Amino acid sequence: MPSSDRIYLSPPSLSGHELELLDETLRSNWIAPLGPQVDAFESEFAETVRIGHATALSSGTAALHLALRLLGVGAGDVVLCPTLTFVATANAISYLGASPVFIDSDAATWNLDPVLLEEELAQRSRRGELPRAVITVDLYGQSADHEPILELCERYDVPVVEDAAEALGSTYKQRPVGAFGRFGVFSFNGNKIITTSGGGMLVSDNGEAIAEARSLAAQARDEAPHYEHSRLGYNYRLSNLLAAVGRAQLVTLEERVEARRKIFSRYKRLLSDLPGLEFMPEAAYGRSNRWLTCLTIDPARFGSNRETVRLALEELDIESRPLWKPMHRQPLYRESPRRGGAVAEGLFDHGLCLPSGSALSETDQDRVAEALRGCCRA
Ligand SMILES: *Cc1c(COP(=O)(O)O)cnc(C)c1O
Repeated sequence: MPSSDRIYLSPPSLSGHELELLDETLRSNWIAPLGPQVDAFESEFAETVRIGHATALSSGTAALHLALRLLGVGAGDVVLCPTLTFVATANAISYLGASPVFIDSDAATWNLDPVLLEEELAQRSRRGELPRAVITVDLYGQSADHEPILELCERYDVPVVEDAAEALGSTYKQRPVGAFGRFGVFSFNGNKIITTSGGGMLVSDNGEAIAEARSLAAQARDEAPHYEHSRLGYNYRLSNLLAAVGRAQLVTLEERVEARRKIFSRYKRLLSDLPGLEFMPEAAYGRSNRWLTCLTIDPARFGSNRETVRLALEELDIESRPLWKPMHRQPLYRESPRRGGAVAEGLFDHGLCLPSGSALSETDQDRVAEALRGCCRA
C-alpha cells in the first residue's frame, strides 16, 4: 500500500464515475478486449482531440509502434525524434528494426528544435538519406512547435507522428494536441493525466489507417470463419473494463488540466523569491496541461544542486524526479547519431519534476515548497 504521508509525483486520481461504469460493464459480461465501452471510449476520445478516428490500445508504446508500422517504417530505415523524451519514443523505432536519430531541444520550449530539424533534413536530403518519419513529442504537456515542423516535413515529404502521450488536454494555436501529424499517440499509464492503469490511444483523420491499426492490434486476422493470417499482428487491444475507467476519467479532463495548471502557478508563486530556480517556460503558441511542474536549479545561484534537492525531498517522503535523461546519453542508444544535445543535457543535469498530481492538496504543495526552500543555500 502506498504510504499516506508520502507525496507522490503524479499518482492516479479517481473522478468518482469509475465504479459505476465498471459495475455496469461487469454486469453486462463484456469482459473482453472489445465491447461497448471500448467503442464509446474511442468515439468520446476522438471528439475530445477533435479528430476523425481513434483506436484504444494496451499502451502508448503500442500506439507508437503501430503508427510507425503503418507508415511503412522497417529494417534499415531512419526515424528522427527528440533526444529529450521517454525511452518509449525511441524504442518503437527499434522494434521495427529502424534506427533513431536524435535531435536536440529548443531551449525556449524544451521540445524538438525546428532549426536543428531543418539542418538534419537538408543534409539528409543532399545525401539521399531522408528519414522514413519524424516523431515529435509534446514534452511534459507542452506542445511542440508544429507549424514550422509540419511545413518542413511536408517540404521533404516526410510523415510526422505526434507523441502526445504526456499532453492530453493541451492545445497548439487553439487546437487540441495529438491531431497534428499523420498519427497522434496518447498514453493512459498510471502517472499520466488520465489513466486506465495501463493503456493508450492511436488517433488519425485517416479512417482506413485506424481500421488497419485496429486489425493489427488484434493479431491481423483475415476475413474467414477460421483463423487465417497473412500479415504479422500484435495483441495490443485495450480491455473493455479498462475502457470504462478511461471514459470515467475523460469526463473530468478539463478539471484535471486546470488543477495541474494551478499547481504549477502556485509553486511558481510560492518559490518566486528563491534565486536560481527557473520554471519550464510556456510557449505563447499554446496551452500546456502542465502534466508535471518542472524547473531547473542553477547550483551556483541556488546554493545546492538538483540531486541534493531531490535527495532532501526524498528524506521528507516527497517524490521528485530528474527530467528525462536524453536518449543519446542512454547506454541503449549511445551509438545512435544525433544533432546537438547540449540543451537536453543541461536540462537533465539541472532539471527536476515536482509532485503534480491532479488531486495534490495545497497543504501538500506547501510541504513541497517548504522542503525546496530549506535546500536554498544562497
Ligand atoms: C508515457 C509515455 C509514452 C508511453 O506510454 P505507455 O502507455 O507507458 O506505453 C510514450 N512517450 C512518452 C513521451 C511518454 O511520456
